[in-house]
Parts: sequence; structure tokens; C-alpha cells
Amino acid sequence: MTSEIRVRIAPSPTGFLHVGTARTALFNFLYAKGHGGKFILRIEDTDRERSQAVYTQNIFDSLKALGLQWDEGPDIGGPYTPYAQSERTEIYQAWVDKLLASGHAYHCFLTQAELDAEKAKAQAEKRTYIYSGACRDPQKRDALAAQPAEDGSPRKPSVRFRIPDDRGALSFQDAVRGEVSFDTQLLGDFVIMKSDGSPSYNFAVVVDDMLMKISHVIRGEDHISNTPRQIMLYEAFGVTPPEFAHVGMILAPDRTKLSKRHGAVAVSDYIKEGYLPEAFCNFLTLLGWSPPDGEEIGTLDHFAQQFELGRITHSPAIFEKDKLNFINSKLIRSLPLDVLLTLARPYLHAFDLTQYSTEQLHQMLDAVREPITVLSDLPDAVSYFFGRMVIIDAQLVGDVLTGPEPAQVLQAFKNEWLPAADFSSVESLAEGMKAFTQSMKPLKTKTVMWTIRAAVTGRTHGADLSKAMHLLGKDVVSHRVDSALTLTTASPA
Ligand code: GLU
Repeated sequence: MTSEIRVRIAPSPTGFLHVGTARTALFNFLYAKGHGGKFILRIEDTDRERSQAVYTQNIFDSLKALGLQWDEGPDIGGPYTPYAQSERTEIYQAWVDKLLASGHAYHCFLTQAELDAEKAKAQAEKRTYIYSGACRDPQKRDALAAQPAEDGSPRKPSVRFRIPDDRGALSFQDAVRGEVSFDTQLLGDFVIMKSDGSPSYNFAVVVDDMLMKISHVIRGEDHISNTPRQIMLYEAFGVTPPEFAHVGMILAPDRTKLSKRHGAVAVSDYIKEGYLPEAFCNFLTLLGWSPPDGEEIGTLDHFAQQFELGRITHSPAIFEKDKLNFINSKLIRSLPLDVLLTLARPYLHAFDLTQYSTEQLHQMLDAVREPITVLSDLPDAVSYFFGRMVIIDAQLVGDVLTGPEPAQVLQAFKNEWLPAADFSSVESLAEGMKAFTQSMKPLKTKTVMWTIRAAVTGRTHGADLSKAMHLLGKDVVSHRVDSALTLTTASPA
């Protein structure tokens, strides 16, 4: 056997790429990249009714956006093509036939109604349902096959795997959880091919992982109870199973399964909202894994070099949005301004950016990015840089621009400071503002600054005021101060 590391992500295209699947993809990717292995994308679209092309496309786009490029997959091919299960029907049929021929599988002619009745009986008797094995016996099976189904039509058989009677306890070494054991006799002969001819998940996954030479199956813990079934299939095929690593689930802060009611669960929604793919990946990396060097902020490459399955935790990881926000805002603050501008443009389409030079747009973004969490915060953050007027809401007028003091500040600013103010640089403006606040004593610096800021930007926080005024220019600043003055006089003192 070759020791090549080959891992895969095998999403079902029944919805947009979920953050949990993205995390699994990421762990597989990191493991492959850190060990000179291959990362394979397989689309598990055997459920024809629920699978949709738009979801497949979303899976491709989201994985690519996150930087998780696969080495083999449905779109790019590879040595074990095809990589979409819907195109592998004949392969599954051939392997089902082998199991039927070797006696490891048999046809089951029970109808859905009969199976439901078996289940209902188990429930009434308060025991865990295990398939009765009704069709194990060839005679009973033939008798059933000869009877029509409830609606009078011929019965369509499924194919079930025969769990060996003497198989007993099955143990495997999970790279995350250590030794895991199951009693195979509690599993019941399971379906490997449904009566409509489509393979079951457990069967298709084993055939594919086996033929695609997958060395490690790294997936969510929700699949752990499937693993003994899959191992028995490998045994029936006479093939050594891959290594397994079952990663703890991602839970919401209330410790329930992460779902839409907690907010977005699709990777594409986070990207649309303006989470940077690098930040999102960084955040996902820490959901259930911790870097040995303790350095939590890093690139995929950096994490790949340190990624070992043994450091994955089996306890659930909590999806802390605050942490994601922290990582994202940190990254936004560290981006080169030209990169930030390129990323920001789609979010700023409502503004006429042409009125500023590229250099000025860089300055604007630099001035406002400090408190930004996501790129979609940008339109609000930059809005006061556009238009001659600025909207000042009634609350702010009442709180900051009402009364004799703001009127006094704005009068002095307009009549004494502005005419001579040097707008040629941020520094000259900063100097000038310092002198102005001095000249307004005994009024507090804070009162002076808040008044000017409210008049010029329509808010009490945001970009450094000198930077903002430099970009706006003297004409717009004086226009806005004039308007604010009318507000102070119009307001009740
Ligand atoms: N299609 C399965 C899923 O999306 C794949 C599970 C596996 O990795 O085996 O959950």
C-alpha cells in the first residue's frame, strides 16, 4: 500500500456550503497540505430530489473563496474520475453485484409499509429497532418476492448487507477519539442499494473512498455511528479501511446545534456580509483545533505546517461570533490599502467614488477602518464623505448641537478659525484644531470637538476629525458648519 495522504471532502449539494462542512473541508485541506498529500472534492449527489446544481456551484465557489482549492474533483477531474456520485451508478452496481455473489449481501423484498410496521412494533415494545432479518432466509425471501406489494404492483427489492453473525464487537482507532467500539449485532443488516437502484450513503462512500484511495477520512462526529458499517463493508471487500478522524461538532453559544436561527450558516452569506475569506478560515481553523505554537492568527500555510489530527478536540467547538469579528476586524486593519480598496468597492457602489483620487480613497479607508467589523459596515462609515450636506439626526442635534455653547463654538469656528485655516495637510489641520480648542477655553476640549465633529460628520465618532476635514475640503466643511449653525439657533436653547 502506498503511504500517500489522500483526503476528501464529500458534500451533498442539498444546500449552500454550511460552515460545519467548510470546517471539515478546511481540516482535510490543512492535513493534506501539511503532509504533501492530495485534497479531493467529491460531490455526493445520489439524492436526486434534494440535490441541485445551484448548490454544487455554491460549494465550488465557497471553497474556492476560502482558498481551499482541491487537487481532484468533478470540475477538474483526476485519476479516479468521475467525482460526482450521480455519474458513478454503474460502479456501485458492479460492487453491489460482487457482494451479492459472495453472499455478503442479499435482496430484501419488504415494502416500506412492512418496514414501518416492524419499527412501530419495536417502538410499542420499547426496544431499539433493528431490522428483523426477514429476508436473510432464502425461502422466506422467495415467498415474499412472489407476493405483490400493497398496491398490487410487483415488489422492488433493496439490497442489504449481511452483518456476519460472528462479527461481535468492532473496534477502531479514531485519530481524534482514540479507541471506539460498537456491537455489530445491534446494527441490523443495512441497506446498501435502495429499491430505486440508488446506492445508500454508507455503501457509496465506501466504494468511492476505496476506489479513490482515500487514506484518511476526516469528518464530523455525526458520522461516527456509520463507521462500523463502513468498516464491515471494507472487510467484505477484503480492503484495509482508511484511518478515521471524527471531529467534534460545532455548536452555537447556547450549546445547541448551529442552525439558521442562530444566524447565517452558509459560508457565502458570511462572505457577502464582508467577512474576509482569510479571516473566516482562520476562525474555522480554531473551531476544534489549536496550533501547538499558540499563535492563533495566521495563514493557511502556517497552520498547515503544524496541523496534526491528534490536536483536534472531540468536545464540541462553540461558534463565537465575537471571535470571528475580532479576527476579521484585525485583518481589515492590517490589509494594504490598495487591497482594502479593491475589496471595498463592491460595498461602496452607491457612492460616486470618482470625486476622490485613489490616494484620497486610501486615506478615507484608512481613516474609517479602525472600528469596522465587516466590509458591509463601510457604506455607513464613509457616508459623510459624500455630498455637500450631512444628515444630522434630531437626537444628535438635541444632545450636541443645542444651546449657547455649540452656537458659540460654531460661530467662532466659522468666523475666526475657518477663514485662515490651512487645509493643505492633515498635520496643519491638526495643529489648527489644537489652537482652536485652546482659544475656546474655558469651554472643554470635548465640547468643542464634539460640536465640530457633529456639524461636519453628523456623528460623534468615526475618522480622526483632521483627516476627515482634509478629505472634505474647506468648502464642504464651511457649508456644513453654516447648516449646523442654523440648527443651533433653530433649536430651543
Ligand atoms: N455526504 C456526506 C455528508 O455531507 C459525507 C460524509 C462523509 O464524509 O463520509 O455528510
